[in-house]
Amino acid sequence: MNGKVLLVDDSQQARVSIREALKDIFDVFIEADDGLGAIKAFVEEKPGFIITDIEMPSINGYRLISTVRNMEDGKDLPIIMLSGTKNSLKKKLTGFNLGASDFLMKPFESEELVARVKSLLRTRYLLDELKEKNALLERLAVTDELTGLYNRRHFFDTVKEQMALGLRHHFKLACLLMDIDHFKKINDTHGHIAGDDVLRKVGALLNSCKREGELLARFGGEEFVMCLFNTDSESVMLAADRFRQLIKSFEFSSTHYPTLHITMSVGVAIYPQGSVITIDELIKAADSALYRSKVDGRDRVSLYEWTPQTT
Ligand code: GH3
Ligand code: MG
Ligand code: MG
Ligand code: MG
Repeated sequence: MNGKVLLVDDSQQARVSIREALKDIFDVFIEADDGLGAIKAFVEEKPGFIITDIEMPSINGYRLISTVRNMEDGKDLPIIMLSGTKNSLKKKLTGFNLGASDFLMKPFESEELVARVKSLLRTRYLLDELKEKNALLERLAVTDELTGLYNRRHFFDTVKEQMALGLRHHFKLACLLMDIDHFKKINDTHGHIAGDDVLRKVGALLNSCKREGELLARFGGEEFVMCLFNTDSESVMLAADRFRQLIKSFEFSSTHYPTLHITMSVGVAIYPQGSVITIDELIKAADSALYRSKVDGRDRVSLYEWTPQTT
């Protein structure tokens, strides 16, 4: 919400008296003497409030209101319509049906205009607050608290959609499951706070190294997961090894612990492939490749390769 108001009236005298009445409420007054000029001013100046006359040459107040309501920025903008015509019940109803927020007869008492403007501003403020809170909740619902990366739920939701698209448009996707080696030792040796710091840094490092369009999330604990789209197994293995080397070469340090190095093991699975049809199967396949990396000595990348069961 900004302090800009757009005053639309073909009578300059009317605009002057509205302006005078509202001089303590708004910082910037933009004026137009018909609907066309008002639409132009609305697009260019993005006012936070509109007060418009109904009867005007060319584009009248009704068309202005419905045009503004059809624009993204104008959906919940407060709009007061003014009319000088007596017996204007029909006019009022038409204006409200088109989306006006309030109605006032001309000539008006300035106190009444001020009171109506303030009431609409209050509602608008509460609506803005609600929108901000909703946006925050939406962000929190998809975010891992410790690392600030996406969480597992968001990863699952997004990858499920992408798997369906991949099937339809014949592109492959790859899942990388990354697990820090002997992470428990870091907690045991340097404490949980140090462990948390390492996890945050690993998250940030992976995030800085991933390419646009690749999806990274914290899978849980000391495990991270990534999805690469439209790719073949050779380039995925190269990317996975890039991530592995990045973590291995980084010097982790903070005031909580001395410089330390860590490694991670990675399991890679490609979709679609053999029995890998659902997201659970894709994760399971990546997990079995990760297990192979652990068994083979850690600090390495393994690819899951599906082999048909022979009976
Ligand atoms: P491996 O090489 O086999 O993966 O060994 P590991 O020690 O990394 O694996 P293990 O599963 O034995 O231990 C994982 C540890 O990660 C245990 C758990 O306390 C720790 N951990 C999980 N989540 C967090 C967290 O949010 N913060 C911290 N500091 N530690 C965590
Ligand atoms: Mg008029
Ligand atoms: Mg683990
Ligand atoms: Mg581990």
